[in-house]
Amino acid sequence: MGRAGERAVVLGAGMGGLLAAGALAGAFDRVTVIERDALPAGVAPRRAIPQGQHVHALLPAGQASLEQLLPGLTDELLAAGAIGHRPLQELRFMIGGHWLARADGGRDVLLASRPLLEGHVRRRVRALENVTIIDRCDALGLTGTAGGDRVTGVQVLRREPGSAAETLPADLVVAASGRGARVGAWLEALGHRRPAEERLPVDFAYASVALELPEGALGADKFVLIGARPGLARTLALAAQEGGRWLLTVGGYAGDHPPSDRERLLAFAATVAPPDVAHAIARATPLGDIAAYRFAANQRRFYERMANRPRALLPIGDALCAFNPIYGQGMTVAAREALALRDALRAGHDGLERRYLQAAATIVDDAWRLAAGADLAQPAVSGRRPLPVRLTNGYLGRLQAAAAHDETLAIAFIRVCGMLDRPQALLRPALAARVLRGARGRARSEHGTGVRRRELQLGAASTVVREAGPPNAREAVVFLHGNPGPAAEWEPLLATVGARWRAVAFDQPGFGDAVAPTGFPQTVEAHAAFIGHTLDTLGIERVHLVAHDLGGPWGLRWAADDPGRLASATLLNTGVLPGYRWHALARLWRTPRAGELFMATTTRAGFGLLLRRGQPQPLPRAAVDRMYAGFGARTRRAVLELYRSMSDVGAEGERLAQALRPLDRPALVLWGRHDPYVGVELADRQRRAFPHADVRVLDRSGHWPHLDASDTVAAALIDFLARHATPHERHRPEPHPLPL
Ligand SMILES: Cc1cc2nc3c(=O)[nH]c(=O)nc-3n(C[C@H](O)[C@H](O)[C@H](O)COP(=O)(O)OP(=O)(O)OC[C@H]3O[C@@H](n4cnc5c(N)ncnc54)[C@H](O)[C@@H]3O)c2cc1C
Repeated sequence: MGRAGERAVVLGAGMGGLLAAGALAGAFDRVTVIERDALPAGVAPRRAIPQGQHVHALLPAGQASLEQLLPGLTDELLAAGAIGHRPLQELRFMIGGHWLARADGGRDVLLASRPLLEGHVRRRVRALENVTIIDRCDALGLTGTAGGDRVTGVQVLRREPGSAAETLPADLVVAASGRGARVGAWLEALGHRRPAEERLPVDFAYASVALELPEGALGADKFVLIGARPGLARTLALAAQEGGRWLLTVGGYAGDHPPSDRERLLAFAATVAPPDVAHAIARATPLGDIAAYRFAANQRRFYERMANRPRALLPIGDALCAFNPIYGQGMTVAAREALALRDALRAGHDGLERRYLQAAATIVDDAWRLAAGADLAQPAVSGRRPLPVRLTNGYLGRLQAAAAHDETLAIAFIRVCGMLDRPQALLRPALAARVLRGARGRARSEHGTGVRRRELQLGAASTVVREAGPPNAREAVVFLHGNPGPAAEWEPLLATVGARWRAVAFDQPGFGDAVAPTGFPQTVEAHAAFIGHTLDTLGIERVHLVAHDLGGPWGLRWAADDPGRLASATLLNTGVLPGYRWHALARLWRTPRAGELFMATTTRAGFGLLLRRGQPQPLPRAAVDRMYAGFGARTRRAVLELYRSMSDVGAEGERLAQALRPLDRPALVLWGRHDPYVGVELADRQRRAFPHADVRVLDRSGHWPHLDASDTVAAALIDFLARHATPHERHRPEPHPLPL
């Protein structure tokens, strides 16, 4: 490599700074790395890298780049205790709610703690004879030429008694000072503008603990990775580490943060983990304290777009772009940028900044597309979703579902996640055809969500039962729809809850696909009796009721008539309704002729407007379409009959509350604040039936919290059930716990 200058200064000795120093060493006489933290001599966590206590996955592409920069590093790390694992053989990976098919996912990839990785990289870089690392030394700012067109050095202050600020002259400065880098302010001081910035807030938080797992608890698996899934924006990583330890990291989006005390952390992990993993974690011995980390936003800075940027200043690593850590991209992107820096230096000093920043922008683009795209697939994350993002996420969702059964797709997907292939590789026609075939196959097998559907004959009546989880458990979470339903609206929650418990939903007579016997009286009592009959037929003895709208009066009437079977109640804008007075629309339905006229003239557009009433945010279009599709003549007639059969609903609510109160069952009450039909003042009144109810009002929700605040509802429900329901491995031991 040609000589580029006398001295380069690197700010920060994290992974980005160390790898940059390795890349610069061949082009400068001297490379000086400035680090404000006290650096340990060997392998140890350090204060300025709090992320070192959380799972750090090294992607296959990152491992290859590290090896190119520091040949022999992989073997050194293995000798120091790092563990090799074969992707998709010893890695169990759930994405978008689908376990990727087991397959030969390529060469061994290292599992190691961040201190081990960084410690060995630091040792190798320190050993380079023209590299000096000065720790306990703060970079305070930049010096530049009079016109500010070129950076000439760095002002630093050593953390030693009596030391004064000094200037280190430099022919090139590399800013590797992490996501909090103050380079923007330093540029302003030199008379430049800050680079433009893009942020995608995720309000994500991690909690981690090192564990000793019971021997062989996870079979051959060395790494379990579970991404957020529809309806549950929580994540989990459990990775084997050097020294026989395992590191557990759980995370949650948009304020649904993991707790930091052991018991509640385990309960949180159990809401995400499959039964064998939850069981292994529950039996594990903690090897230290729980560490927490909060990550506000993905954050990217566009230095390459700056019109008048100064020469001799280059950012790298998190200073350039910091991604949501759950995608494990940071170290890989930093290593690739270091390689890009080395290549740019090899091509000569003229135009170095442009060449490097363009190459780095391409590296960051790919990683950003993956991270931001996946974050935007989470309804809990707010942000603009332009058409290409929606289309890509739709396609990726189908691909992930198909990859649960198709090894070729699973391998293609994991290669992109591992940054071995660029994201566009997933659009190759041969793969797209497999996605399409997989999607068709899935349509036949109940949309690949794990929700099974079957028709259930009940004498002269029949209904369609949707079910997930263990089919024969006698304890079940039973979802009751209201007006107009149908039970299909519960499918995402069924899939989520079904990962741990038997979860069941069915259409009530007159609604959805249920067929009511001739003369079925549309009354609360008849619906309650129908619930009892269906549960008997399904062999369900102990019920965790989840009800919405009219499902509340029906389900609670059933519970009051058969009190021994109610284990808990989750009430979504429903329940006992003491003192309730009908809303305007109900009054209209209760009025003969006016109700019929209303029903006869309600179009899809009118129905849509009705469902917008009071909503702080519109309901998902697919949900509105589904409701309207179920709102045929039969259901419209049933609704009129039902509303006319109920006379004093407030007084009936009082009676029901008195019947249920002595049971004192656990209850979770979730109520959208903006419900125009069943006002939020009724939320607290549920305590008349459930004295110890956990009552929560959802500020950004209307009448359908499970549709417009689905993640919040799923998380609260799962936490509640984790406390009150029996997980299914206790119902039925699973001889082959792998969910494949
Ligand atoms: C919770 C969490 C989990 C993560 N998990 C993964 C993962 O699984 N896989 C992965 O590849 N990446 C992961 N990352 C990202 C990864 O840690 C970083 O992207 C990567 O290490 C590159 O960081 P960096 O060196 O640019 O910055 P940092 O690691 O933040 O290092 C910056 C260094 O600069 C020093 N510094 C800052 N300011 C100054 C100053 N003024 N003067 C002197 N020194 C200064 C700091 O002390 C620090 O040592 C994770 C990040 C977090 C937060």
